[in-house]
Amino acid sequence: MNEIEVTDLRDAVRRLCADFPGAYWRALDRERAYPTDFVQALTRAGWLSVLIPEAYGGAGLGLGAATAILEEIHRSGCNGGACHAQMYTMGTLLKHGSERQKEAYLPKIAAGELRLQAFGVTEPTAGTDTTRISTFARREGDKYVVNGQKIWISRAEHSDLMVLLCRTTAREDAKKPSDGMSVLLVDMRAAVGRGLTIRPIRTMLNHATTELFFDNLEVPVENLIGVEGQGFKYILDGMNAERVLIAAECIGDGRFFIDRASAYAKDRKVFGRATGENQGVQFPIARAYVQLCAAALMVEKAAALFDAGLPCGAEANMAKLLASEASWYAADQCIQTYGGFGFAEEYDIERKFRETRLYQVAPISTNLILSHVATHVLGMPKSF
Ligand SMILES: Cc1cc2nc3c(=O)[nH]c(=O)nc-3n(C[C@H](O)[C@H](O)[C@H](O)COP(=O)(O)OP(=O)(O)OC[C@H]3O[C@@H](n4cnc5c(N)ncnc54)[C@H](O)[C@@H]3O)c2cc1C
Repeated sequence: MNEIEVTDLRDAVRRLCADFPGAYWRALDRERAYPTDFVQALTRAGWLSVLIPEAYGGAGLGLGAATAILEEIHRSGCNGGACHAQMYTMGTLLKHGSERQKEAYLPKIAAGELRLQAFGVTEPTAGTDTTRISTFARREGDKYVVNGQKIWISRAEHSDLMVLLCRTTAREDAKKPSDGMSVLLVDMRAAVGRGLTIRPIRTMLNHATTELFFDNLEVPVENLIGVEGQGFKYILDGMNAERVLIAAECIGDGRFFIDRASAYAKDRKVFGRATGENQGVQFPIARAYVQLCAAALMVEKAAALFDAGLPCGAEANMAKLLASEASWYAADQCIQTYGGFGFAEEYDIERKFRETRLYQVAPISTNLILSHVATHVLGMPKSF
């Protein structure tokens, strides 16, 4: 996309978001309710299927365009967390699925007829150490029988399909700890009540996240993605796109906070003048802006590498770390600039403050990114 096309795209996303103002999000936040209308509007406009190739009915755009969409959503005060996975989870299917699977699912996902919004990796006992997952898919003839438990699986109640990582060989029987895991595409409509139970988790932000319990859930063997036992690699493959897109959401959040803080500081009069006339108020906002601009460059670089088909693991991770820290700093300074009013629901600052905090923990925590950079980029010894 050229610069004019990206500007047009950003304008169009902003126009759509204008129909979903703070009051819309505050009402949902109170109830921890899902933004169905917002997600449907994005789907109808085609913004969630931009990464699907044209051959399967999508726009066939790159990660650069997708980052612009999520950044604008977040800058507008909306939250893409309710649906961002619809953009990238299909990447596992696109990259590793069979032609039959791609033809069966991708055009329907692109058309908004199927929601592939759920991505089931994390387990309560394994935590970040994914090779310790124990949810097990046992092969029985033409089906897998799945037993186990997942945690923090977002949007499971609002998704028709889920990409599920489970073990098909026990860790102790596999050649390497990362072998013996497989990816299944679970049809949630068929699964709920027939071996799959979903339990919502109420969290400090409105994120529709859940716990999943598998009790002899049957999944047809034809829903295996790629080769049995190779699933860990497939999941890792998809993570770079996820990290870059989440980083773009953080950039959008950061811009939201900086827009709001600088406007408020110009307007709010205390001691007979605008608070923003004081350097003690100006400088933290300016610093937030400087940090955010630097982080945005790393997001841009990671997206460009990804779109060029080049390795981008380090850049995707660094983009996520820098952007999540920059948005958090901006959030903190924005609350400080607003003073007491920053804590009042009606200004949306405290809501966005809670929302943006997530991204230093999920989808990967800051320490794990530092560990990746230390060992994979700088060649220091592995600590685990
Ligand atoms: C709202 C929400 C939504 C989520 N959505 C999804 C989803 O849709 N699908 C999904 O699969 N998962 C999801 N997750 C899970 C998320 O990816 C994990 O929470 C995240 O990766 C951190 O893992 P953990 O919570 O198990 O932390 P743990 O692994 O228990 O780690 C806890 C803390 O210890 C630190 N730590 C752990 N080991 C080390 C070490 N060796 N060195 C230094 N520090 C270490 C970590 O950095 C972390 O800060 C979600 C989580 C949340 C909170």
